[in-house]
Amino acid sequence: MERKLLIASSNRGKIREIKEYLKGLELELIGLPELAPLPEVIEDGFTFRENALKKARSRAAETGITTLADDSGLEVDYLKGRPGVYSARYAGLLANDQANNDKLLGELVGVPLLKRQARFKSVLVLVEPGGGAELIAEGCCEGIIIDSPRGNNGFGYDPLFYLPEYNKTMAELPLQLKNKISHRAKALAKMKELLIDRKGEY
Ligand code: IMP
Repeated sequence: MERKLLIASSNRGKIREIKEYLKGLELELIGLPELAPLPEVIEDGFTFRENALKKARSRAAETGITTLADDSGLEVDYLKGRPGVYSARYAGLLANDQANNDKLLGELVGVPLLKRQARFKSVLVLVEPGGGAELIAEGCCEGIIIDSPRGNNGFGYDPLFYLPEYNKTMAELPLQLKNKISHRAKALAKMKELLIDRKGEY
């Protein structure tokens, strides 16, 4: 029988992306919306890794199913790594993408392009219930925060995140290309390798 793997996310886009990456691994992939509602996990860690570990450990303990969780966000060098783990709620608890992007532009007014380096980071954590294995994979994608939004694809900070090698923002790239080069894609590729290495044990 195929082993189960719970993807600890309620974001259907993310679940679809992760399922696509991990198909072919002989795992039955389950998203959180397919289970009865579980209590919210408070993401109060100071790093992406802490938050991803907390989500994966909580869901694995609650369900008894091996669980994959991720946490991600944007780090801007000039802002000493902010918004970081606060990326989703940078402009406030109920902030939407537009408000977060406006706040980011506001903090970078007058800062020259050369000092606007940034990176998206993604940390994926897989936890086996009952004190079993914990696997961690990280990915990052380097870019520059430009001073006005460009493009309609993607989400979050994509319209402000410029990739010099493509001369486009992340929001101007076709989604298939973003899904090849993104921080999450890189972390997923590494996690897939870890899972392949452990085939049989896991
Ligand atoms: P989470 O990992 O879903 O909690 O994402 C945290 C926040 O980081 C999101 O709400 C976005 O603001 C930002 N973020 C993460 N990944 C991306 C991305 O691929 N593009 C743009 N913004 C992202």
